[in-house]
This record gives sequence, C-alpha cells and structure tokens, in this order.
Amino acid sequence: MSCKHIFVTGGVISSLGKGLTAASIGLLLKQRGYRIRMQKLDPYLNVDPGTMSPFQHGEVYVTEDGCETDLDLGHYERFTGLPCDRHSNYTTGRIYSNVIARERAGGYLGCTVQVIPHITDEIKSAIRQVEVGDTEIAITEIGGTAGDIESQPYLEAIRQYHQELGPGNALYIHLTLVPYIKAAGEMKTKPSQQSVGILRSIGIFPEMLICRCERSFTQEHRDKLALFCGVRPEHVIEECDVKNSIYEVPLDLAGQGVDEKILRLLDLPIRQLNMEVWNGMLEGLLEEDRREVEIAVVGKYITLRDAYKSIYEALTHGAIAAGVKLKVRMLESEEINPDNVAEKLRGVQGVLVPGGFGIRGVEGKIQTIRHARESRLPFLGICLGMQCAAVEFARNVCGLEGANSTEAVPGAVDPVISLLDEQRGVTDMGGTMRLGAYTCTLKDASCARAVYGVTEIRERHRHRFEFNPRYRAVLEEHGMVVGGVSPDGTLVEMIELPDHPWFMACQFHPEFKSSPVCPHPLFAAFLKAAAVESSDDR
Ligand code: GLN
Repeated sequence: MSCKHIFVTGGVISSLGKGLTAASIGLLLKQRGYRIRMQKLDPYLNVDPGTMSPFQHGEVYVTEDGCETDLDLGHYERFTGLPCDRHSNYTTGRIYSNVIARERAGGYLGCTVQVIPHITDEIKSAIRQVEVGDTEIAITEIGGTAGDIESQPYLEAIRQYHQELGPGNALYIHLTLVPYIKAAGEMKTKPSQQSVGILRSIGIFPEMLICRCERSFTQEHRDKLALFCGVRPEHVIEECDVKNSIYEVPLDLAGQGVDEKILRLLDLPIRQLNMEVWNGMLEGLLEEDRREVEIAVVGKYITLRDAYKSIYEALTHGAIAAGVKLKVRMLESEEINPDNVAEKLRGVQGVLVPGGFGIRGVEGKIQTIRHARESRLPFLGICLGMQCAAVEFARNVCGLEGANSTEAVPGAVDPVISLLDEQRGVTDMGGTMRLGAYTCTLKDASCARAVYGVTEIRERHRHRFEFNPRYRAVLEEHGMVVGGVSPDGTLVEMIELPDHPWFMACQFHPEFKSSPVCPHPLFAAFLKAAAVESSDDR
C-alpha cells in the first residue's frame, strides 16, 4: 500500500492546540493498527528553533538523533510513543538553506531559482521523507495560521502534493476557532468561514474542520459551518476545551468518530480501535482521591508554561506512576535569595531545577539546591540543574568558595563546570551543542542503577558545558556519588547524594523520553520520593 497523507492546517489564531490535535489523531490511527509518522513544517526563517529564546518559542525539543526541534514533536512522541527524527521538523530556514546550497553547487545551472517550483519542490521532498519505509499514514502539521505571509509556500506545496496524490490518498484537516462572544451570548462562525475562505482562494478545500470552542455548538452551528466552509456536516468536529487533562483530547475526538471518518476519507479499512492502555492511564490520572504532592520547579522562564513543556508533562507522568496528584509551584529563580528561599519552598515535597542557559537566575538555583540538600527535600536536577548542584556542593560542602561554571563566570577560581573539550573553538551557535542520545553507564549499587534497573541507558543531551573531571575526586571524597558516566568513563552524566533521602541530577534531559503510558523512571522515582515526604506531614 502506498502511503496516504494528512495535512493539518490552522486558522484564525495561533495556540489553538494544533500539535495536540495532530498528535491525538496520530494516536488514534496508530491504535487502529496503522503505521503512522508525524511531521511539523515551521514557516519561520531560523534553520531550527535551537537559537531562539524559550520566551519566543517555548521549549526546544531534542530528538534521539540530535535535532533541536519544535515542542509539538514532544506531543507527537508522548501521544504516539513513536520516535521522531531529523525529518520530523523542517523550517523555512532549513528549506531555503538546502535550495541555496544546491544553487551554489550548480544544481540549478541555467535556471532562475524561484519559490515555485524550487522552494515548493524542496518542501514536497521534505514531506516525502516521512512517507518512507512502511509508513501507511503520514501526518504533516503546517505551523502558523492560514493567511500568514510565511505560510504561503507551504500551503502551495501541500496544494500541489494533494493534487498529485489524488482524492482518497490525501486529506486536508483545518483546525479553527469558534469563539463564544459573551456580550452577544452567541457562538460565532465567521472567523472560521474567513479562514477557510483564505484556503479556498489558494486552491485548498479542507475536507474536515476541527473547531476549537469553549462550549458545545448546536446542529444549527454545524450546518452553518458546513455550508459556508464547503465541508459535509458530519465532518465538522467540535473540540471543546478538555476538563482535566490534554490526554483526554484523543478520547473526545474518538467519541465523535474522527478516526473512523478520516479512514473513510482516505479509503482505508476501518480496523478495531484499541485504547485500553490509554484509558487505564487516564483513569489513574483522573482518580479523585489521590494524595496531592507539590513540586517546585525553579527556572528562569517560569512565566511561560511552554518553556518547560516536557518537564511539566514528565512530572505528570511521574505522578501517574506514583499514584499521586501533581501540583506544581513555579518559581522564578532570579527572585530567590538566601533570605527568602525557605519561605519560597515552604510546603513543597520536592524540588526540580531544569535546564537553562546564561547567568541570569543561576545563583537563585544554587540557593534552591542548597536548601533542598540541607533540608533533605527530594531534588531532581536536569542539565543546568545538575551543573548548579555540582557548584553548590563544591562551594558549601567541599569549601571551594570560588566554585562556579565558566558559563556564568568565565574566569572562575574553581571551574567545577567547564566547556566540553569538543566545544572549544566552536564559534557557530546553531546545532553545535552536544546533542541527541548518548549511552551512559550506571554505577553498581548507585541510586541511578536502582532507579533504572539496568546498567546502561541512552538519554538525550543538549549542552556545551560539563562537569569538570578535575573536580571529580574532591567532590567524591566529600560524599557525592557519580552514578552515571559516558561509556569511556570520562564524562560525568549523573550525580547523587547517598546520605540524602533522594537527591539526583543528570546532565541529560530525561523529560524528553517520558510518556503518560510509559513514565520515565527518574520522574517516577522522584515523585515516589516526594510522596513519601508528603505522608510525613512535614
Ligand atoms: N547551559 C548549560 C550548558 O550549555 C546547560 C544547558 C541545558 O541546561 N540544557 O551546558
């Protein structure tokens, strides 16, 4: 069978949850026994989001094969359980770089290189990358909103490609907003009509509308949307805000037969839908009488929820595994100092310090970690969080007052964290960190070894600095255990404190490999340790 293709576009406004919707559709089709692959095309000019501030773009998600990508890929992986790779995310910057490099190499000799056909051809070839192998259904989400100038080449490319594949082989799904206007007491279909109008004017005729709305709409609304948008009424789907968890979205869509309708539109047999595991997970997640566990997340991009998306999700998964209800206290690290740290953390049962870059907020993180260590609060440090934990321990336990990371203080007296050897001399900032999955060997009898239950793991990295091996001995002499190292033993990947109830930190990002049906062992163990704290009535 040749691969069928679904194109998901968005209209009216951004942040409608296109990624979640696409991921939910992916899950449903996978659970109907189809081999699927997912992809996001982003219209901005950066080659990847790696050089953008999280304030601009939210979290940078890292794939197993070391690509810095859009955070929607996190939804894809968490929902479908299928790994993404370098072909799962393309940006305009990447598309143009390829075309321009080919032009310089003489690949278009004699031609005027143009948006149509050269850029659109390059986009189509990116789309074909997810159809390879035995993929039966590929789902491509187009970033941005219909009407954006930047989106135009993508829309033209999917128009051409849909036409090439022919009816029954490709499908347009348009996600739109049906707002409720309080003052008028009415739901409005006009924004959707207009956004579908934009698509129709360029030759894209959506076959299914998924309407984000605050409340359910009537048959009258459905018929009106169908008529004005040229979609059959049964293909007008409502996607109301879910009550408790984003993981309810697939069930909401399945309840309206979205997956079945998609398969019909794609001329594919309707196979049995198996949501047993997912439903079981949701049951646990939504269980009312679970004990609440409050975890402080102390970071520098705390005002933007998307900046730590995978962290919050992985904590949720950990809570599912621990059978507790998660409450997150988001704390701005810059506002934490020795005088207020105890107050800020009062009442939490665990502390997580996530990754980050630059000097802002670092001292607040170090204060936080000191408090967690001294008051024996369960602590999980990730990437910069591990680096801060090493600096804190060096300063306050080993007495190395001038300990620091050379990222924060380049001339630090005791550079406990310093640039990785491979990073010296690197001047380009894009895609040049230590990226993607690396093997890590776990020490026998360590907490890391117990948590993972295996001797070797593979986890994803995104950093330039490392634990300086020159300081390993002194930190170990003072009681820090190196629980995980690179296979050649040179890089410190995990540290822990055996004389603390639960204190672990890792140089990698475990949050990228957690999913609701398969919570990451580190997050599960962290939440279990925090749950013990909460039962202590501290
Ligand atoms: N800024 C640190 C480094 O580059 C940590 C990176 C991170 O937390 N992702 O090593």
